[in-house]
Amino acid sequence: MQQMVSGRSITRRIATWALCVAVLGLVPVADAAAQNGVATSGEAPIVIDLRARTFQPGEAVVVTLTVPPPAVDVRVRVFDRTVAAFPLEGGQWRALVGIDLDQRAGAYALEAQAIEGQHVRTATRRLTVQRRTFPTRVLQVAPDFVNPPKDVQARIDADRQFTQAAYAQSATTRLWTGPFVRPVPQPANSRFGTRSVFNGERRSPHAGTDFLSPTGTPIHAPNAGRIVAARDLYFTGNTVIVDHGLGVFSLFAHLSKLEATEGQSVAPGDVVGLVGATGRVTGPHLHWAMAVAGARVDPLSLLALLGSP
Ligand SMILES: [Zn+2]
Repeated sequence: MQQMVSGRSITRRIATWALCVAVLGLVPVADAAAQNGVATSGEAPIVIDLRARTFQPGEAVVVTLTVPPPAVDVRVRVFDRTVAAFPLEGGQWRALVGIDLDQRAGAYALEAQAIEGQHVRTATRRLTVQRRTFPTRVLQVAPDFVNPPKDVQARIDADRQFTQAAYAQSATTRLWTGPFVRPVPQPANSRFGTRSVFNGERRSPHAGTDFLSPTGTPIHAPNAGRIVAARDLYFTGNTVIVDHGLGVFSLFAHLSKLEATEGQSVAPGDVVGLVGATGRVTGPHLHWAMAVAGARVDPLSLLALLGSP
């Protein structure tokens, strides 16, 4: 799957925010503040809390912000992407971000921005990405899926444009509600991020989690959202993409049957299709991929943080 791109609407909001900062003449926070997540200029601080299974490539990160009132618009910026936060009870805000599976290890700045009318309050803290080594697997598949024949190249390009456009337009409000749930009851068997060698040739890393579910198993929406793709694509076969809002997407691949329509809204647990073996596969299974704020993350990392117990 292609690397997700951040949304046009998000880009527009960044531009608006950048303009606000320029007009107000605010300066970036000092280094000392950046270490401990405290706001600038002696006013009440924004406190930033980060929670993850591990701070490694392919992991979702829950950002919880304690923001002094009366903030009406709170955003988080990290890895050159900005996502909107949503309010929780008691003056707290939350945002989901992800560490892309190809993100390099190192120290990055995570910035929170709270907008109160004409005033922008900011705080920064360090997010250190630790090194991760993914395993390599060797697979034999039909040769056309490793080096596709020339006559399907136009279709592959069209598929890529379609999925990029789908990922570029996340709902600007949170569509998910409550905990995320597993789409199928079977356990996951393939490690996320595995580097694949197809028929002796190195290919892009495995950006999803595989569940060894038999053909025909109903696939349940892991949370509420809007169907932005329900169609046959060359590599992923019958594919459903659910936009959960605020840059969070689920993709289900290799379905034997689509049971969703593009544009349709789904509730948590709604059936969106049946497990199958369409596209580039070695056998029937469910491939579940997630994008969080433009990062490809392991869905199991999000389940560990925000899943039902
Ligand atoms: Zn897979």
